Amino acid sequence: MCEEQNFYAIADIQAKILPGVTHWQSPNFFGYYPSNSSIAGFLGEMMSAGLNVVGFSWITSPAATELEMIVLDWFGKMLKLPEEFLSAGKGGGVIQGSASEAVLVVLLAARDKILRRVGKNSLEKLVLYASDQTHSALQKACQIGGIHPENCRLLRTDSSTDYALSPNVLNEAISDDVTSGLIPFFLCATVGTTSSTAVDPLLELGKIAKSNEMWFHVDAAYAGSACICPEYRHYIDGVEEADSFNTNAHKWFLTNFDCSVLWIKDRNALIQALSTNPEFLKNKASQANLVVDYKDWQIPLGRRFRSLKLWMVMRLYGLENLQSYIRNHINLAKHFEELVAQDPRFEIVTPRLFSLVCFRLLPPHNDETCATKLNHGLLDAVNSTGKIFASHTVLSGKYLLRLAVGAPLTEERHVNAAWKLLQDEASALLATL
Ligand code: PLP
Repeated sequence: MCEEQNFYAIADIQAKILPGVTHWQSPNFFGYYPSNSSIAGFLGEMMSAGLNVVGFSWITSPAATELEMIVLDWFGKMLKLPEEFLSAGKGGGVIQGSASEAVLVVLLAARDKILRRVGKNSLEKLVLYASDQTHSALQKACQIGGIHPENCRLLRTDSSTDYALSPNVLNEAISDDVTSGLIPFFLCATVGTTSSTAVDPLLELGKIAKSNEMWFHVDAAYAGSACICPEYRHYIDGVEEADSFNTNAHKWFLTNFDCSVLWIKDRNALIQALSTNPEFLKNKASQANLVVDYKDWQIPLGRRFRSLKLWMVMRLYGLENLQSYIRNHINLAKHFEELVAQDPRFEIVTPRLFSLVCFRLLPPHNDETCATKLNHGLLDAVNSTGKIFASHTVLSGKYLLRLAVGAPLTEERHVNAAWKLLQDEASALLATL
């Protein structure tokens, strides 16, 4: 390629591509949940792109498989996961592309495990449980996994439990289903729900799952990373009851997208559901069962060398820096929460646990009929300035704004500026009523 062409390509990127990009790495990006990039993550990603190995079986690039096992054991230890999730025993970790893939593969493992016990003809009787705050990824997994749509129990939550799943509600649902001849087989709990960071009580839920011989999966896609800090580790107390646990390193762990980490206690359950053994992939190491072949832990065959970027992040930053990184975001969110709480025109809608603040502008004269329009208008107004990007959700019928701190470059001044913008736009909107 000649220099002139390079120049035109860069000019095109500046003129045509960048104006259409939403800058997730901007310090003023507060939408959804963060999607972190970092120099270490970028370098790891670059090396992986350069090597471009396809490590589906151990033999296709031993370092790709072995580094993944090592790095996920390190990460598991940082989170103080039970030993059974580490690779020395019957379990281990695997990098998936997304939390959606993680829940899908464990659902397939759980489905096949129960069907081996109760007979293949019972698929229609299998029932799955989660709260109504669970990410829609679970619903997609059910659609793909052939679970009857009527057998997906998304159990109600409300403000009385801060939108966490109540063990009593779960027990009642299971007992009704068993009475009707159905077979409970899967429970998905969330630590840090997508709307409001609700934390389901893992220990109690896990015990219920165990006594009903159900698979227990924990989705900690966003909040899992925070649990490397001793003061937040209690949010995953009870993970010892789980069969599988997932967190997205690409959300809040300085690891470039995509890198979703899944640990499982019984890797054979996954392998039994997903393995194939075609002639053209046979090799001595696999046949002798001496190695891990990650092709049997995931949906596709091909896989990238994603552990390189996670390894780079841990190797270059280390545990203490990663902990301070998380703490800094949580402190910034706390600061934002305090600012909102000081303005009587606003309310904090759910308690802040991590780095997400859920809040809304109160409708004048408590007129709830205009609350949605008002807050919708506020979100539109602030986002259309292009100065910040925030997002929204609805809880118990209330439309509210979500401000998630988590971009690597966000500082207190950005949070202050975001709040000033929200206040100014709120004043302008209220003046029109
Ligand atoms: N689970 C939770 C709690 C999430 O917040 C999200 C996304 O934000 C997901 C699952 C889906 O993640 P992914 O895009 O990795 O499938």
